[in-house]
Amino acid sequence: MSDRPGREADRTTWDFQPPRRNPLLVQLGDVALSPTPETWVVQARRLIPFALLWLVAICLPVVLPGSVARPGWLAASGLLALVTGLGVLFTPQTGGYREWRIVPVITVCLAVVMLTYGSGSTSRGYGQVLVLLPVIWQGVYGRRRDTVAAVVVAGLALVAPMVVFEGYPVEVELPRVVVLVLVCAVVGAVLQSLMRSLRANDQVLIHLSRVVRDLYAADDPRTMLCEVVASLAGAPAAVLAEERDGELVVTAAVGYDRPAGGARLTLERVGARGRALDTGTIAFEPEVAPDRLLTGSRLHVPIATHDARSALVTAVWPTVQPELPSIVLGALALVGADAGVALERIDLVARLAEQARRDGLTGLPNRREWDEVLAREIARAQRSGRPLALAVLDLDRFKDFNDRHGHLAGDDLLRAAAQAWRASLRAPDVIARWGGEEFAVLFPDSTAEEAVLVLRRLRMVTPDGQSFSAGVVQWEPGEEPEALVAAADALMYEAKAQGRDHVRHRPAAG
Ligand code: GH3
Ligand code: MG
Ligand code: MG
Repeated sequence: MSDRPGREADRTTWDFQPPRRNPLLVQLGDVALSPTPETWVVQARRLIPFALLWLVAICLPVVLPGSVARPGWLAASGLLALVTGLGVLFTPQTGGYREWRIVPVITVCLAVVMLTYGSGSTSRGYGQVLVLLPVIWQGVYGRRRDTVAAVVVAGLALVAPMVVFEGYPVEVELPRVVVLVLVCAVVGAVLQSLMRSLRANDQVLIHLSRVVRDLYAADDPRTMLCEVVASLAGAPAAVLAEERDGELVVTAAVGYDRPAGGARLTLERVGARGRALDTGTIAFEPEVAPDRLLTGSRLHVPIATHDARSALVTAVWPTVQPELPSIVLGALALVGADAGVALERIDLVARLAEQARRDGLTGLPNRREWDEVLAREIARAQRSGRPLALAVLDLDRFKDFNDRHGHLAGDDLLRAAAQAWRASLRAPDVIARWGGEEFAVLFPDSTAEEAVLVLRRLRMVTPDGQSFSAGVVQWEPGEEPEALVAAADALMYEAKAQGRDHVRHRPAAG
């Protein structure tokens, strides 16, 4: 069997649609500073570690005797750092705030230069280490370009004193400055990538929570699930296959035009698909076997179900693809883990809705369903001008049957009669349990006389030689459903009055 969800004849109807955008990857591309402005309390908390470090740096040369060469520069450095901190704290975070983030980086680096110059030659080196602070700050809270800018400014702050200040021992300082610049670059790069993946994980969680909520709320969660997997994987198409009667059957698909006729498409549990189902983990097939009708890559996402029935969604690309980033695979695995519950829930709702329309004993449509069918068929007869016949039938002396054989045997007879009658009617005919041992039958496209003939056939197949009496009417244009049923009911009682085991009918007018 081909991996392609369709037979050769469906080739044209299963054409691919244009690739979808991957909303997750689009979002990840935008990952930057937190989009919402933060309160000054949050900002202040962030500045505390930097402020403490700076305080120690300013105080240390003061307490170490002989290490302060120029106290004025030291004081100016402390003041500049303080002003920078307050500036960061109280700058309104509107519009161009991101672009202005370089300003505190420059002033802090300037303060480092002052600190270096103000310290004596013995303590100069430790002050320079402080250029790491703006790099760390931007690495954690800024964008990539902010971090690169911070590394460049930090490098300038380390090199500038050698050029600007006279008597600076370049040969002693240079190796340390080179190493410090490299450390700044590495720290900035590592922090950036770490923060990016942390933010990306956040985005994935937010995206997933929306996806799962939508999945639970969807009217058609199967198609929705295919949509979700296709869009997360960035694939043009996705197919959901579920185990039905021991076979893996395609139950939904997106990205294809649906094949006409809704043929049952089965898939084999082989290769990467089989592996995904057996292990419960995502399996990527970079290139499907060349003998398949559709080439390209596949990604099989298993769906966890409570009853251990197999289900999986396959993302389909018509061309060979590279493997997806692990963050996307993780998101898909989470969708697979949650989707099973959503599908089971919707199936349960559908089952309950179906049960609400069925009679529990015979499995026939109940009165609620009957009322809807009757209204629909009358409307159809009105439009088409075709005849419509309706019968009400009631088992004869059924109370006696119960009294003789017991209520359970009576139930069995009702069940067997319903089954036999249903089997003797045409597919468009509708038989419903009207109540107790009374049934109603609709005969679309039939006259009352034709319905009488069918009822005779039903009488022949009624089990245990049980008889019934029935009334048959043909719908007259403009006649209300209630009036139609009442007329049939009245005829049924006439049949009872005339000795039972009998069908009375109202001939069509004219
Ligand atoms: P008639 O020929 O006049 O219709 O006589 P009847 O005994 O069939 O009519 P009646 O309305 O007096 O009694 C209907 C009986 O059908 C009463 C009840 O015992 C039986 N019946 C109704 N619903 C059920 C059911 O779900 N199971 C069983 N076993 N019997 C039922
Ligand atoms: Mg009866
Ligand atoms: Mg009755």
